[in-house]
Amino acid sequence: MLSIRNLSKTFSSAGEPVHVLRGVDLDLRAGERVALTGESGSGKSTLLHLIAGLDAADGGTIRLEDTEVTKLSDAGRAALRRDRIGLVFQQFNLIPSLSVADNLVFQARIADRHDATWTKELVERLGLGSLLKRYPEQLSGGQQQRVAIGRALATKPSLLLADEPTGNLDEDTAEDVLALTRDLVARTGCGFLMVTHSLHLAGALDRHLTLHAGRIA
Ligand code: ADP
Ligand code: MG
Repeated sequence: MLSIRNLSKTFSSAGEPVHVLRGVDLDLRAGERVALTGESGSGKSTLLHLIAGLDAADGGTIRLEDTEVTKLSDAGRAALRRDRIGLVFQQFNLIPSLSVADNLVFQARIADRHDATWTKELVERLGLGSLLKRYPEQLSGGQQQRVAIGRALATKPSLLLADEPTGNLDEDTAEDVLALTRDLVARTGCGFLMVTHSLHLAGALDRHLTLHAGRIA
């Protein structure tokens, strides 16, 4: 469902080019859950940004199902991100002024993809039932990340991208959150690509890839 060929991205730093991605090839099947590791600065976040259409590639192709992401306009990439890609970050990024219940459905409503039955199932599976009226600042890190995962999946995306989603959680909480996410992804059949520093967590997914010298090693 995701097919990346010869993807390249260069940044310029103090006038010098920094070749971050130098021909990345990557394929993900529907329902497949893949971990991506690599040294700090190896381009993991850059790769996720390009897949999500948050930034444009210099060369190569990204195809998500029937859409060639690398050919989309800025508006087309925004629509793709809204409708078909779920994003989870290390910092949770919940909206502080919204309750848990409203955070959960916020993006799904904007995308006009809100489904009350599915949201209810997410709340149950993520164990958020007793937290719906709280605000983000009243939640632990693990609870906040469970809300963020629920929000990302509420739109029933084709692909869930997570950039070090457990980086701010202690080890036990990280394992719990990952196990929940893994099961939910299996339930939805979406693809899941997760950047992590933890080789232990990477080993809990279907496949483990490493980014090195601008390519998938
Ligand atoms: P990782 O997530 O693997 O730690 P990143 O994808 O964040 O790595 O960054 C890869 C390299 O690209 C780093 O050298 C970083 O400094 C550089 N980089 C990332 N984004 C930008 C940007 N917007 N402008 C300039 N350089 C960038
Ligand atoms: Mg990063």
